[in-house]
Amino acid sequence: MQTICISIKVITITVIIKAMNNKKILGFVLGVLFVGILVYILKVGIFSQHPQQSLNNSTASQTSATVKVVAAENFYGDVAKQLGGDHVSVTSILSDPNIDPHEYESDVQNAIAVSQADVVIENGLDYDTWMDKLLSASPNNNRTVIIGGQIAPHPLPDNPHVWYGVDNMPAIASAISDALKKSDPADAATFDANLQTFDNSLNPIQQKIAEIKNKFVGTPVGLTETIYLYQTQAAGLNVLTPLEFEKAIAEGNDPSAADVKTANDQINSRQAKVLIYNSQTVTPITTNLQNEAKQLNIPIVPVSETMLGNKNYQSWMLDQLNNLEQDLTLVVK
Ligand SMILES: [Zn+2]
Repeated sequence: MQTICISIKVITITVIIKAMNNKKILGFVLGVLFVGILVYILKVGIFSQHPQQSLNNSTASQTSATVKVVAAENFYGDVAKQLGGDHVSVTSILSDPNIDPHEYESDVQNAIAVSQADVVIENGLDYDTWMDKLLSASPNNNRTVIIGGQIAPHPLPDNPHVWYGVDNMPAIASAISDALKKSDPADAATFDANLQTFDNSLNPIQQKIAEIKNKFVGTPVGLTETIYLYQTQAAGLNVLTPLEFEKAIAEGNDPSAADVKTANDQINSRQAKVLIYNSQTVTPITTNLQNEAKQLNIPIVPVSETMLGNKNYQSWMLDQLNNLEQDLTLVVK
């Protein structure tokens, strides 16, 4: 750029000197110079009005292509997007609320995405074993694989849903951030800042859980699947439904007849004040429980395995907690 500028200056000066001998050419050259100065002033004006924009453009041109992230589940994909911003392109495989992730089987498109990824995020803990198969099918030493379930500092026993433990998320987000930095070191400062923002954004969720605990500690509730134990425990709620029932539903097995009877009785006798219902892991047994709760006007709080389309991780978690709090307010005097 500098060389071009110098060349233009040299040519301009040469033309001016020659033009001194010819008035017609001199007039033309002065006219061209005037237009040139005008354009220069306008350009400087434009850039000085948008210094941030020109800075971003130069940053983008210095960095290589965006980091390709493939997340097995959309809540991890959302966190990667929040941490990476414009420097990542994220493909989330599980995002359809009508598909039960416990039953998912991958397809060819998933395999192609994984084979091209710089960073892969899965949950592990037997939640998404299909991802391990895709990873072994396309070995790549430069790819970083993050397994949320192995990083989470507070996993519950026999419960793969670690992302429902809000206190698990900073460690998982930090690992994702490290992976982005490894693929795109030039943007490390941005990733650090975004991680700090993400961690701070979890505070309202933790505050809401503390608020529910403060108001409703010990309240008996029903729960169709283990997923929400991470938050019922944190909120001090008393889950009546047998754990074996919840685990069987999560694992796609039939709960024992005795456990089904117990779960139904707890609804029919109104011992459970609300029914927290996993709307994404549904069987005829859970549908039946839901119908019984409806008939008795026991509030039903739907919770989902994956993030609902128009939300991010934080608003998804917070909306469910707000629903729970509202329903508890209705029934607990
Ligand atoms: Zn589940």
